[in-house]
Amino acid sequence: MPHPKKKLIVVIGTRPEAIKLAPVVLAIEQSEWASCEVVLTGQHRDLVDPIIRDFGLTVAHDLQAMQPNQSLSQVTARILAGIDGFLGQSMPDAVLGQGDTASVLATSMACFFRNIAFAHVEAGLRTGNLRLPFPEEMNRVLTTRMTDWHFAPTDVARTNLLHEGIDPATIWVTGNTVIDALHHVLLQSCPPLPSRPGRDFVLVTAHRRENLGSALENVCSAIKTLAQGHPELDFIFPVHPNPGVRLAVNKHLLGIANVLLIEPCDYPVFCWLMKGARLILSDSGGVQEEAPALGKPVLVLRDETERPEAVAVGATRLVGTEPGNIIGAVQVLLSDAASYERMATAGSPYGDGHAAQRIVDVLHRSLARR
Ligand code: UDP
Repeated sequence: MPHPKKKLIVVIGTRPEAIKLAPVVLAIEQSEWASCEVVLTGQHRDLVDPIIRDFGLTVAHDLQAMQPNQSLSQVTARILAGIDGFLGQSMPDAVLGQGDTASVLATSMACFFRNIAFAHVEAGLRTGNLRLPFPEEMNRVLTTRMTDWHFAPTDVARTNLLHEGIDPATIWVTGNTVIDALHHVLLQSCPPLPSRPGRDFVLVTAHRRENLGSALENVCSAIKTLAQGHPELDFIFPVHPNPGVRLAVNKHLLGIANVLLIEPCDYPVFCWLMKGARLILSDSGGVQEEAPALGKPVLVLRDETERPEAVAVGATRLVGTEPGNIIGAVQVLLSDAASYERMATAGSPYGDGHAAQRIVDVLHRSLARR
C-alpha cells in the first residue's frame, strides 16, 4: 500500500505573501509526498488575485476577512476565527505562512490552539523595535513563539532567532523565496511595459503605514524636484490603492510630464520594470530583496530596515524620507559612475532561487518522522 500523501495548507493574506509563497506552493505540488491547499484570508484581495493567476495557483478556500474600516484587532480576530474553522474541517499535517502580517499571526495562533504544526517562511526578520514597523515587528515576534519550523532567509535572520532562545534544531537557512519568484517570472517572456520607449527611468514605490502623512509628502516633494531637474528621465510610480497614499501622491505629482503615475503593476510587469530601471526608490521590503538580484541600486525610503544584509553588502542604502537626503543620494547615483557601479555590482545576499525546494525537503524529512 502506498503511503497517503501528507496534507499541507498554505495561508496567503497580502501581495508579498502571495509572491513569496507561490514558489513554495508550486514546489509542494511537484512533490510526490504532499498535497497542498491554498487558503486566502482576503487581506489584499485585489492585489493577490493577479498573483494567484500569474503563478497558476488553485485556491481551496477564501475567508473574505476584510470589512470596511476594520481595526487591526477586528481583522486579526476574523482571520483567527476563519482559519480555525477551516483547520477544524481540513485537519492538515502542517500549515505554512509567511512574513509579518495579521494573516500569519492569526494563522500561527490558530495552529497553536489546535496543536497543528506551523512552518514560518521568512522567519527571523527584526528591526529590534517592537513598534517599528507597526504592527509587523510584533506580528513576527509573536509568530516565532508559535512556530515549529523556522525558515530563515539569511544567517542574520537565524542569529536573530537564536538571540530569542529559539532551538537551533528548528531553524533552517534557506534563502528568500522571493528570489525563486523573481526567477520564475523572468524566465517567461517580457509583458508589455508602461515605460516609454527610449527613455531611462527611475522606479518608485512608497506606501508603508509609518510613512503615511508628512513622510510620504516629503518623498513626493523630493520626486517632484528630481523630475523637474531631470527632464531626460522618467519617474514611474505604481501608486498603492491606499487613499492616504493617493492623496499625497496626487497633491505633489499629478500633471508632471515625466512622472508616470500608474496603477499597481502585475508582478511580472513590476519585475521587468525593476530590471529595466536605472535605479529604484522604495520603502518596500520585497523590493530591497529583489533589486540586488537584478543589479539595481535601491535607495530605501526608511530610517531603519529589517533587511540589513543588502545594506551591508552595499546593494541598498537607507536614505529616510527627508527631501534633501533623497535628492542628494539620487544625484550621486546619477552623476558618479563609480558609486553607481559599487551598488549595482554588490550582489544579492538573499539566496539562489532554490529556497522553496529546501523548505519542502525539510518538511518532507520532518513529517516522515512524525
Ligand atoms: N510589487 C508588485 N507590483 C507593484 C509594486 C510592487 O508586484 O506595483 C511587488 C514587489 O515586486 C514586491 C512586493 O510587491 O515583491 C512588495 O510588496 P509590498 O511593498 O506591498 O510589501 P512589502 O514587501 O513591503 O512587505
